[in-house]
Amino acid sequence: MRTWMCLICGWIYDEEAGLPEEGIAPGTLWEDVPPNWVCPECGARKEDFEMIEV
Ligand SMILES: [Zn+2]
Repeated sequence: MRTWMCLICGWIYDEEAGLPEEGIAPGTLWEDVPPNWVCPECGARKEDFEMIEV
């Protein structure tokens, strides 16, 4: 599982945790997050996220 960080606000998406409150089940890979999904904090798009090392 990988972790992705929003380059705009620093919010982190953890594939292992998912985002259940937005309908993204735990274990959802970044590639499987809908392309129209946006950062819950700042509204940045997926291309504004970068994979980070844990
Ligand atoms: Zn953000």
